[in-house]
Formats: sequence, structure tokens, C-alpha cells
Amino acid sequence: MQRKITIIGTGYVGLVTGACFAEIGHKVVCVDRDKEKIKNLKKGIIPIYEPYLKELVSKNIKKKRLNFTSSIKEGIKESKIIFICVGTPTRIDGNSDLSSIEVVIREIAQLSISNKIIVEKSTVPVKTAEYIKKNLDLYKKNKKLKFSVVSNPEFLREGSAIKDFLKPDRIVIGTEDDKAKEIMLEIYSSIKAPKIVTDLKSAELIKYVSNTFLALKISFINFIAQICEKTGADIKEVALGMGLDKRIGKLFLEAGIGYGGSCLPKDIKAFIRIVRDFGIDATLLESIENINKNQREFFLQKIKDSLGNVSGKTVGILGLAFKPNTDDVREAPSVTIINKLLGAGTKIKAYDPVAIDQARKIFGKKIKFAKNLYEVAQNADALVILTEWNEFKNMDLRKIKKLLKLPKIIDGRNVFDPAKMARSGFNYSCIGRKTI
Ligand code: NAD
Repeated sequence: MQRKITIIGTGYVGLVTGACFAEIGHKVVCVDRDKEKIKNLKKGIIPIYEPYLKELVSKNIKKKRLNFTSSIKEGIKESKIIFICVGTPTRIDGNSDLSSIEVVIREIAQLSISNKIIVEKSTVPVKTAEYIKKNLDLYKKNKKLKFSVVSNPEFLREGSAIKDFLKPDRIVIGTEDDKAKEIMLEIYSSIKAPKIVTDLKSAELIKYVSNTFLALKISFINFIAQICEKTGADIKEVALGMGLDKRIGKLFLEAGIGYGGSCLPKDIKAFIRIVRDFGIDATLLESIENINKNQREFFLQKIKDSLGNVSGKTVGILGLAFKPNTDDVREAPSVTIINKLLGAGTKIKAYDPVAIDQARKIFGKKIKFAKNLYEVAQNADALVILTEWNEFKNMDLRKIKKLLKLPKIIDGRNVFDPAKMARSGFNYSCIGRKTI
């Protein structure tokens, strides 16, 4: 059955959620306070790079299943189900900043003229649903209206967001209302995935602990990579040997320069705060964060070791996005590493297949942007790989060697095989692997 759904906050999660619900047949209106963004979206202009998103948005606009507005009043008029997808960044004190959620729920409470199911899709601390319900009841104009709050955390990964939404590992629905449960299961009925229906607090916690566990795997393998370097073991072999154990699993065991992006860093920080506020020892979580921070320093030291003095040298950076297939540079390791190199007097030339426009907003004219990877290599003192784009894996190494001043590659993503690189005459260094 087609349902009318409203999405409030048309960012990464909101736009993907809206486009995918439209794709599976619902009638969706996406709301955002950013009028320019809404104007562009109505024309099919997408604010982010995400594979297949543009096609999905255009197709569903044409089919009249997807619409956009900057007015919450207009957006919620006809829908029973309202998804909140606004940002929840970290405040200076480490807590989640819920101010956008507060603004939205107040507006919903005051502008609603019928009963609604309010779905919390943004990542929020445990017990936020309780707080939302209290505020909806406090601010509602028509005291007869009923609001039911549901937690439905989002697990999509930037770069494969559409696939993750339409073919997820699981769908988590936290609710204490049978009618809301029935409607939530119905809107997701065409998506084949295990559906976990649970209480509100468990659903909220599932999101934080999932992200924390992923970050734990990344920091764990980076920690082991440092041990590999001291002992002469090879992190790829160690990770393979570990990961084949089904209890451990192969994914997220790739050593590198640590996690970044708009989710893991902020969610780990917020979770540390939540745990501390409950009076629970957060040492385990703090270590995840510390290892991640130190990994960037560890890599910077490799660049310095390779180049000697970095001041006045030109470093070619390959990759600015925090991971491949996205243009997101929020909390990307590239930002920390480039800023530190600039601080040490290094000249930077950089290239990324899609993230240059986003990176330009951060660095302006402080670094040069190149049109392709070969332009980056031309006359550079070294090439530094920060994102494992396929384009970099397939680069013409012979050509690169000729273009570089010296054949030095410092690889933060273990893209190449060290033995092959040595045979090709490169001075190659990477993470947790023996380089010859
Ligand atoms: P985003 O910054 O890309 O988008 C948030 C959007 O909300 C923006 O377009 C902003 O203009 C809009 N907004 C803010 N206040 C508003 C208001 N009062 N009325 C209308 N619109 C408003 O954020 P995002 O990356 O989509 O993340 C949203 C939430 O989803 C966060 O809690 C995040 O942690 C969570 N999440 C993100 C991802 C991801 O990969 N990006 C994955 C899972 C969960």
C-alpha cells in the first residue's frame, strides 16, 4: 500500500531515505530549511555525490512520487509518517547537539492538524525518543492530537547508500505502540531484510554500539599494524588469518590511516560522553578514539621519514574524500594530514575523482588542485595516497615514476604490493607491511 511519508532534513540520509521510499512506491515529500538546496533538488540537481542517487531522484520526481519543499507546514500536511533526518553534530563538550531536532519537533507539534508517527532516523543518544515525546506533547497546539515516537536508526554507508537502504543487513524499529509497529513494518514490507522490532531505548543503543564496534575493528587492526611493523609481520596476512574466523569476520580489518567521515568520529565521541554520564568506565571507547588520532600522526611520521625535511618540498596527495565513492570530506584524515604538512611548510598538490569542490571549501587557495593523478605526480617530491579509489589502484606506475622527482610513494591505504613496488623501482612505504 502506498503511504504518504515526510522526510525532514534533506541531507545525506534524508535525501537517500526519501528517494528510496519513493522508489519502492510511497509518495514522499522531503523538507529542508535550506531553500537553495530545495530549489536545486526540484530541478533534479543533487547536492552530494552518491552513486545512482541522481538517477533515482530524477526518476521519482517524474513519476510524481517525490517532491521537495522548504516549508514544514506544507510538508507534514498530508503525511501520517514523519522521518526526522536532521544533523546531530557533536557539541564542544562532546554531547550530541540536538538543537535541530528540538526546532523540528516544536514545529511539528505546533503545525500538525492530525495524529502523526514521528520517526527518529537521525543518530541520537539513548532516551532521546522519550524526550521527543515529552516535547511534542508539551508544544502541541491541539491537545487532542496523538504523536507516536519510533526509533528507526539508519545504517547506510556513504558511497553505497542506495544499495544499503534497499538491501540492508537489517532494519531496526524501536516502538512501544502496536499501530506504529504495524505501519512501520508495512512501509518497509517490500524490502527483504531481517526486521528487528524492539523497544525504543534498545533501538537507539543498537545504532551507537554498531558504529562503536566498527570503529573498534578499525582501531584494533591499526594497533596491530604498528606491532607488525616492529616485528616484521605482515598486517594483510594477519588480518586474513584472523578474518577467516567467522566469529571475527573479514570486513573492517584493513589497516590504514583511520576512520573519518560524518558518523564514526562524532558517534564515538558522543557515546563516550553518554557512557561517562552513566558513571561507566569509558576507557575502552577512549582507546578507540586515541588510536585513531595517533594513526594520522604515525602516518605523518612516515611521510617525514621518507622525505627527510618536508619544508619546501612538494607533496602530491591522491584522495581527499574520507573513503572512495563519496565526495564527503567531513573529518577526513586528508584534512588533518594536509593541514599538518602545510604547517610544516610543505607545498601540496592534490587530486580526488569527486571531492575537489568540497575540499576547496576547506583549503581555498592554500593548496593546488590538479585535474588528474598524473598532474599531481608531475615534479612532486613524493606521492601520498589517502583514499583507496579504484582509479589509483589502476594508475600507470611507469608513467608516475617518470613524472615524480624521486620515485617515492607513501601509501596510507595499502593499495599496492610492497614487493612489486620495490621491483618497479619505487621507494614505497605503507601501513603494517614490510617494505624492501
Ligand atoms: P546532513 O548534514 O547531510 O543533513 C542534515 C540536513 O538537515 C541538512 O540539509 C540541513 O539543512 C537540514 N536541517 C537542519 N535543521 C533543519 C530544520 N530545522 N528544518 C529542516 N531541515 C533542517 O546530515 P546527514 O549526514 O544526512 O546526517 C543526518 C543524521 O543521520 C545524523 O544524525 C547522522 O549521524 C545520521 N546518519 C548519517 C549517516 C551518513 O552516512 N551521513 C549514516 C547514518 C546515520
